[in-house]
Amino acid sequence: MKVPANNLLRHFEEHQQEYENKALEILRSGSYILGDEVDRFEKDFASYIGTSYCVGLGNCLDALWLSFRVLGIGAGDEVIVQANTYIASVMGITINDATPVFVEPDAFHSIDADKIEERITDKTKAILVVHLYGTCCEMDKIVAIAKKHNLYLVEDCAQSHGATYQGQMTGSFGDIGCFSFYPSKNLGAFGDGGAITTNSPELDQAFRMYRFYGSEKRYYNKVVGTNSRLDELQAGLLNVKLRYLDALNADRNRVCMTYLNKMNNPVIALPKLRVQATTVWHQFVVTTPYRDELKDYLETQGIGSIIHYPIPPHLSEAYAYLKIGPGSLPITEKLADEVLSLPLFYGMTDAEIDTVVAAINAFVPKALEQ
Ligand SMILES: *Cc1c(COP(=O)(O)O)cnc(C)c1O
Repeated sequence: MKVPANNLLRHFEEHQQEYENKALEILRSGSYILGDEVDRFEKDFASYIGTSYCVGLGNCLDALWLSFRVLGIGAGDEVIVQANTYIASVMGITINDATPVFVEPDAFHSIDADKIEERITDKTKAILVVHLYGTCCEMDKIVAIAKKHNLYLVEDCAQSHGATYQGQMTGSFGDIGCFSFYPSKNLGAFGDGGAITTNSPELDQAFRMYRFYGSEKRYYNKVVGTNSRLDELQAGLLNVKLRYLDALNADRNRVCMTYLNKMNNPVIALPKLRVQATTVWHQFVVTTPYRDELKDYLETQGIGSIIHYPIPPHLSEAYAYLKIGPGSLPITEKLADEVLSLPLFYGMTDAEIDTVVAAINAFVPKALEQ
């Protein structure tokens, strides 16, 4: 049996009529940018996350770089960020000419809260946490560090819609939460989309201005902004999907709990669950020193898998100018060689789950064959 790494159609097909009706309603409305659907989404998503405000944007990279822009962070400033992240987190910092300062991850693939303070200098202006793979970072410690050193706290929540720590949602701990609605995210649109969440009325206003060419009043431009708006079609479809988000996340949890209970291969380490946190399982990431061999082996059995991510940002060509060479961040670099994301999507059947489990349990690396 073939099992793809992802399949977005299972959820869509279950609610196809509802999505198609909404799309047609918007096409026929004559209103396509910054209308009722975006207003409604911003209100409902803020209320879901537990913040006062949400501003719809074009994508999460825009949410990230605009965050540092509106906070006044730029050349000469440093932003602390975990080294094992998707490169967009880092680009959000460097687009503003600020300098990323990398911190190694802990056993849960999130920033090691105990290694943050040693990287703080008099140039540090903010901490960017990434709730990678759907698991919340250790926010009690991190919020305390940000307060103590008077630093801004920004959250990259592109993989953590609905994840909590001590009962509180990601996107509500810091000054700004940045969300992506790229189709494969836990709350995915049918194209690009993004948003920020915040409790600050000033930041809410600033994002509204920046996303619209820096204008609060039409044709009166206060700052050099950008064009980054969640459109009506995506917002309308997200309004439909938001009502299913908890069910979508619960179904991912069903799959991953079965994986955790049934997988038992001594050469493959399973993801760890953080006490006090609920994960929304954006990915189910295993680690093994035989990663490339495991990926090929799964492929020959028709099982898809993805590496998130094969090259850490500091070693990518784009960041050669930072001159942080191989060996500088050993934990991050080892993870890049060992992580593998297994098939995970809404509506996976028991047969599909069992196929993946059986393949994982039967894997023997060449080096260990008798
Ligand atoms: C997907 C992702 C982004 C970028 O989101 P876009 O909406 O595609 O710009 C940023 N950070 C993380 C951790 C992501 O997974």
